[in-house]
Amino acid sequence: MQARAQALISESALSSNLSLLARRSGARLLLPVKANAYGHGLAEVARAAARHPDLWGFAVAVPQEAAALAALDLGRPVLLLTPPTPQEVGPLADLGVRLPVASLAEAGALPAHARAHLKVDTGMNRLGARPEDAVPIGLRLAERGLLEGVYTHFASADEPDLTFARQQLARFREVLAALPPVLAHAANGGGILSFGALTGLGLARPGLASYGFAPAHLRAGSGLRPVMTLRARVTHVHTAYPGESVSYGGLWRATSETAVATVGLGYADGYPRGATGQAEVLVGGERRPVLGRICMDQLMVDVTGLGVRVGDWAEVWGRGEISVSDVAAWGGTVEYEVLTGVGPRVERRLED
Ligand SMILES: *Cc1c(COP(=O)(O)O)cnc(C)c1O
Repeated sequence: MQARAQALISESALSSNLSLLARRSGARLLLPVKANAYGHGLAEVARAAARHPDLWGFAVAVPQEAAALAALDLGRPVLLLTPPTPQEVGPLADLGVRLPVASLAEAGALPAHARAHLKVDTGMNRLGARPEDAVPIGLRLAERGLLEGVYTHFASADEPDLTFARQQLARFREVLAALPPVLAHAANGGGILSFGALTGLGLARPGLASYGFAPAHLRAGSGLRPVMTLRARVTHVHTAYPGESVSYGGLWRATSETAVATVGLGYADGYPRGATGQAEVLVGGERRPVLGRICMDQLMVDVTGLGVRVGDWAEVWGRGEISVSDVAAWGGTVEYEVLTGVGPRVERRLED
């Protein structure tokens, strides 16, 4: 069977982004590949990134992702970013997965072959030990020979005002100063692009930036290249006559004879339904409006005058005229949500 939609994953764009982010941060990279590598395909991205000299390892959100990565056997460390259940600790440690630790009880419960990254909550208030509690936990882990890293996470490093991020960094540095030297990491993509090498830490965790997107206020001239191009096949072409409507609810109505191409991509594949009424795609070399409601599996496009045929590709976003950022804006959301929403029916293809 042929997939109706493809996500083309550019290894050269990924590689160029990783080089840029490593240079800017002065750090090696712990690449977040959670949520199917931000929708780009876990295996495709991990294989390509593992070839990159600036890559230290991978960060994932849940144990299933850690296990899937371990099975790829890429010879790079994997860090789990959220707390495992007590039952998951042993199996994850056996796979070599680095575990987050945020309490003395967790530090005590780790098996002797585990490797831990102490998680410090410097202000995100999501996960981790408070700074005043973190040092004894880190010392306990170090005593047991299990402490590989210490990390924290910025709550607003992708916004123009860095006051809070600076406070978080200062709190983090106090914890680091009281612990033996180990790997330390704090910056996400926004942190790298805002602070450069100022964080002075050995590792950084750029997610969205690795996939090509800087925070909006830093986008101009960031040098980052979008990694994914999403395209889908035209599956049917027909004519809508004046007065006829297209799609659910009859939101769009033809005022003249209109050539309509039906494209095999819908909101179940991650195209935001909220983009109805604003969305455009590239087809036959032109930017053309999507007509009426975006459906679960399909969307319809005005291709009048283009000679589009069944089997032609419609480019939905990519490096060309229409970006993920445009689609996110039409859908009233952010690049993170659009990219991670790209569904399992979309074939991922790693290309140069
Ligand atoms: C997702 C995540 C990141 C990456 O964040 P970006 O904003 O995509 O750069 C880094 N660290 C942690 C803990 C995360 O959960």
